Amino acid sequence: MIYLIKGRIHSVETMGTVDGPGIRYVIFTQGCPLRCVYCHNRDAWDPRGGRETTVEEILEDIARYLPFYKNSGGGVTATGGEPALQAEFVEELFSEVKNRFGLNTALDTAGFAEISKTEGLLRVTDLVLLSIKHIDEIKHKEITGVGTSRILAFMEYLKEINKPVWIRFVVIPGLTDDYEDIRRLAQFLKGFPNIQLIDILPYHTLGEYKWEELGLEYPLKGTPEPDKETIRKVKQVFREQGFSISED
Ligand code: SF4
Repeated sequence: MIYLIKGRIHSVETMGTVDGPGIRYVIFTQGCPLRCVYCHNRDAWDPRGGRETTVEEILEDIARYLPFYKNSGGGVTATGGEPALQAEFVEELFSEVKNRFGLNTALDTAGFAEISKTEGLLRVTDLVLLSIKHIDEIKHKEITGVGTSRILAFMEYLKEINKPVWIRFVVIPGLTDDYEDIRRLAQFLKGFPNIQLIDILPYHTLGEYKWEELGLEYPLKGTPEPDKETIRKVKQVFREQGFSISED
């Protein structure tokens, strides 16, 4: 089969263990419409960056490690950047990943996506890993540069089509660790029965060097990583609302 749609990717990881169930082939797509102040992939923002690739090239690479994905109940995850920006390319890739290998597919997205452009992609996506940055509109804009309305519409659509979702939430001291805000978020998420799991991620500074390499000042310079007690309390807020929480 000849695949005509080309994609731009930042990189791949062949033995991913944190982006969905089992061992996974993780594709970091290039380009992101958000401007998160803590972005750990700052070099993935520019849609003209990265390198061009084809579905066939990625499928050949996946085939080399297939037993790991099959035997672990794993699969393929598209992350970024924002994979929904290249919805047609990822749709074609996921479609063939399922047809050829029978693997599970996961889309790791911030949800800032046009529904009309992602319907096809979501049909071949088994699991959505949805990264929610903040429940409050103003704080969301401060953190990401965009408002929440498009993301909320995307969430409603995922509910409508009953798509399994894991929510990812990054705890950042001074930005997203207010317990009242987190309680509001947890209560809001209760309205989405398609949410299977909450993944609480402590903020880390591992991506800071990428800003510096690009000659940019890291916006959160000096922000500490959250302590264990804060993470425990955040998890507890979600547990109180009846959610399952992913283990470390
Ligand atoms: S959505 Fe992800 S890749 Fe895009 S700016 Fe935010 S953290 Fe970075």
